[in-house]
Amino acid sequence: MNNKLYGKLIFELSHEGRRGYTLPDSPFGSYQVPAEMRRAEDAALPECDEMTVVRHYTNHSANNFGVNNGFYPLGSCTMKYNPVINEEMAALPEFTSLHPLQPADTCKGALTLIDNLQQSLAELTGLSRFTLSPFAGAHGELTGLMIIRTWHEKRGDSKRTKVIVPDSAHGTNPASAAVCGLDVVEVKSKADGTVDIDDLRGLLDDTVAAMMMTNPNTLGLFEHGIPEIAQLVHDCGGLMYYDGANLNPMLGACRPGDMGFDVMHINLHKTFSTPHGGGGPGAGPVGVRKGMEWILDLIDNSSYLQSGTDVTKDGHDREDCAADKPLKVGAYHGNFAVLMRAYAYILTLGKENIRMVGPLATLNANYIKESLKDVYELPIDGLCKHEFVFDGLKDKTTGVTTMDVAKRLLDYGYHAPTIYFPLLFHESLMIEPTENESKDTIDGFIDVMRRIAEEANSTPELVKSAPHDTPIGRVDDVLAAKHPVVTYKSLLNEN
Ligand SMILES: *Cc1c(COP(=O)(O)O)cnc(C)c1O
Repeated sequence: MNNKLYGKLIFELSHEGRRGYTLPDSPFGSYQVPAEMRRAEDAALPECDEMTVVRHYTNHSANNFGVNNGFYPLGSCTMKYNPVINEEMAALPEFTSLHPLQPADTCKGALTLIDNLQQSLAELTGLSRFTLSPFAGAHGELTGLMIIRTWHEKRGDSKRTKVIVPDSAHGTNPASAAVCGLDVVEVKSKADGTVDIDDLRGLLDDTVAAMMMTNPNTLGLFEHGIPEIAQLVHDCGGLMYYDGANLNPMLGACRPGDMGFDVMHINLHKTFSTPHGGGGPGAGPVGVRKGMEWILDLIDNSSYLQSGTDVTKDGHDREDCAADKPLKVGAYHGNFAVLMRAYAYILTLGKENIRMVGPLATLNANYIKESLKDVYELPIDGLCKHEFVFDGLKDKTTGVTTMDVAKRLLDYGYHAPTIYFPLLFHESLMIEPTENESKDTIDGFIDVMRRIAEEANSTPELVKSAPHDTPIGRVDDVLAAKHPVVTYKSLLNEN
């Protein structure tokens, strides 16, 4: 990699008058852009020759670490293999050239795909029907809570505003409940990492709208108390919400619908592939149990197919029809390319192979955990599901932190696991290998994790000053968060 080019902005490589491409004098033929719509001055764009541009961006792209570069055991994120066939399917021009408002009889294939996918998800989860509209897991949670709020309201039960969330929950759970205008109440975890049912009992009353549960929870543990919890919550009139962001270990093993859950979301961009670094793209379909399907018809733009809405209507009429669809979720049919990838993934595996996803994800995680627990601190022992959490190195005398281990892994060509989450431990190091990895890859990771543990004893400074081999060393996260420099201009001002 050319390190001189790296680190420079394309603006800094600019020279007045350099050209990579020349636009025609009159790009619109005889049409003249009206004077009042034209710029008074030329746009401040960088001026570079073509090779400079190509090398600049190629070198930048080579600094990315992705699942196609190496092992990426980021817990709670499911960084799994994204089959190339999915990309080919999602790029088919018959799908990419569709317009969301075109008449239904001209895009039956796409509508059929949407319907088939929603049925597959219903079958995989044991719920009745799904909306594919939400654009992310957190967006699915918000949609699911809107559905739950609507369910209570339509029954005239307006005092239900309390949402119970375990203290181990993903941060999006309480955030979604708050955005939905509901009150968050935390339920404690027991020492074994699962929900404390005695604590829960004290929180249950006729103001409970829902209990949100993640299963396996953020410690990678199966919540064995679910049948009892579901019974208690239902008895007091609340609904059970399943955060199915990490459905990997469940595939082929069990279904949320059979465990007593009423509403759930799935992160297609985790469990059903789709590359999703840097916050997107995603899809967070929401499913409901039998008897609640009618609420999905209240979601704006999500259910043309099922509700029989006339998709041939023009934009004006669509606004009218939105009046009886009070739940605003997102435009049109959701993140269609992500839906396509999920559908391709499900069809590629088929019924037989999809049953292997859960068992293999579970086996891989347990193999790593058992192979490393003599050198890394395992606060909660026992069988995990697709992921587990270490609380830093076992030897606490070295001064080497989880951050140091994560940075040192980069030198060895591995992406770091999730660090400092969940918040239940000080030095959380959360590892999720996924079902896709071979034993060789996993053994390589185990070797390196053991080597780093040795280095922490023999040469702690080497670990504490890592990474040594990356273009940029340690960045100041706090400064970056408090004084973000996000534009070229502000960068110039800083210097
Ligand atoms: C990833 C995740 C979410 C949020 O999903 P986004 O698509 O990032 O909004 C919610 N809950 C759990 C348990 C997750 O792992």
